[in-house]
Amino acid sequence: MGLRTRRPRPGGRKLRAVQFDDEEFRRAGARAVDLAARVLAEQAADPVLPARTGEEVRAQLAGPLPRAGCSLDEVLDDVATRLLPHDRRNGHPRFFGYVCASADPVGALADLIASASNQNVTAWRSAPGAVELERLVLAWLDEMVGFGGGGGGLLVSGGSMGNAVGLACALGRRPDRERQCVYLSTEAHLSVRKAARLYGVRPEHVRTVGVDRRRRMRPGELASLVEVDRARGRVPACVVATAGTASTGAIDPLEEIADLAAAAGLWLHVDGAYGAPAALLGTHGFLREGFARADSLSLDPHKWLFAPLDVGCVLVRDLRRARECFAEDEAYTRVEEQGERERFAFFDLGPELSRRARALKLWMILRVRGADAIAAVLRRNVALRRHLDRRVAADPALEALGSGLSISCFRYRPAGVGEQDLDAINRGLLEELVASGRFLLSPTEVGGCYALRVCIVNFRTRREDVDALVDEVRRLGHARGT
Ligand SMILES: *Cc1c(COP(=O)(O)O)cnc(C)c1O
Repeated sequence: MGLRTRRPRPGGRKLRAVQFDDEEFRRAGARAVDLAARVLAEQAADPVLPARTGEEVRAQLAGPLPRAGCSLDEVLDDVATRLLPHDRRNGHPRFFGYVCASADPVGALADLIASASNQNVTAWRSAPGAVELERLVLAWLDEMVGFGGGGGGLLVSGGSMGNAVGLACALGRRPDRERQCVYLSTEAHLSVRKAARLYGVRPEHVRTVGVDRRRRMRPGELASLVEVDRARGRVPACVVATAGTASTGAIDPLEEIADLAAAAGLWLHVDGAYGAPAALLGTHGFLREGFARADSLSLDPHKWLFAPLDVGCVLVRDLRRARECFAEDEAYTRVEEQGERERFAFFDLGPELSRRARALKLWMILRVRGADAIAAVLRRNVALRRHLDRRVAADPALEALGSGLSISCFRYRPAGVGEQDLDAINRGLLEELVASGRFLLSPTEVGGCYALRVCIVNFRTRREDVDALVDEVRRLGHARGT
């Protein structure tokens, strides 16, 4: 039977009010794309972050619940004039804050299409195309970083959820949660502790391992803690190593940790939310060997693969562990398809049931750009970080505090100023930099010192942007009379 196009029923104005016809959508879409194009064109314009109070922003947006609709044009105007002017430009070449990447516009287009199609990527039978696409993209990501698990895993909202899934698999469904221990370094991401708490790991069983001078986990200390815990009757369950810490870009010694994990029967979860894509670089090929030994790995395509928010990924080598943790048997979700591919359900592998088609933006970005071009951007980001390190090293008024991958931390330290004043000086300096609207950095603490932290996950940033930042730090520092 062929498809028939039905004439729209006359319906009332109320029903028409929640639909677009084809022509209306095209016209409205063109306006929305125009607006999006303007946003992209203005990414490099100052201010990076406009100076606003919460009250000012709220006042622009506040209003009662709309009972009757208005035209889309009117709403788009408000988006342009009342909303966007308050937003931070995360794609600005001098935006160096957090680990927040510039976003590939191909991803924005993909998200539009994904929303139009509104696939619910729960299980194959609900979204055959979107499920197969996600499985393909997972295999690509796996190949890209050398995990070697054939792409078992799933896309999630981000690194926090990736770590939460990895940790769930690590802890398993066991009756002795009260005794299980998780090991992580002082530099591990907060999301690991958060997940451990949610799963009921006792706070004193989340064991913090010290780091070396380069902020990398000390494997010897890990081994001693595991031994002590065993002797006390605790159950060492999981070690979380980080490939690219959010604070300084440090990479834990993955192979040594993998050896210890194997010897002690620990699950090895690697948090590569930020750093995993560096495995594409010849200089970081060693990451692949580490990842190949992990039981699970999280990586965030919305960070250093330049996908728009939100999309994270967690790869799991033995999916039986994920199923053991997440699969439930309910009549209303039971899969009755026969073939193995057709029986596949993502909701058996993670906490979410309804999920948008996050794979589409990755598939489109990877196809349009190609992994080699993305690797070239990563290489350039790392080269810029090295350039920054060299400028800091060459400047007697600046002190390096640690760097790795595309993150560099330093502080202004003029001669004759005591340690006790440096935190306040640098805090003031950072506030002034951000208030200028020309740069944005976020602070961190390295070895107890307040640090200016520069993170370059940006395809727009160039050498002159990094130079301008260093010059400005010097100028502001000098002007403060220190
Ligand atoms: C950003 C980050 C996370 C958290 O990822 P979200 O996507 O923000 O949830 C976890 N670990 C590391 C190392 C990160 O850099």
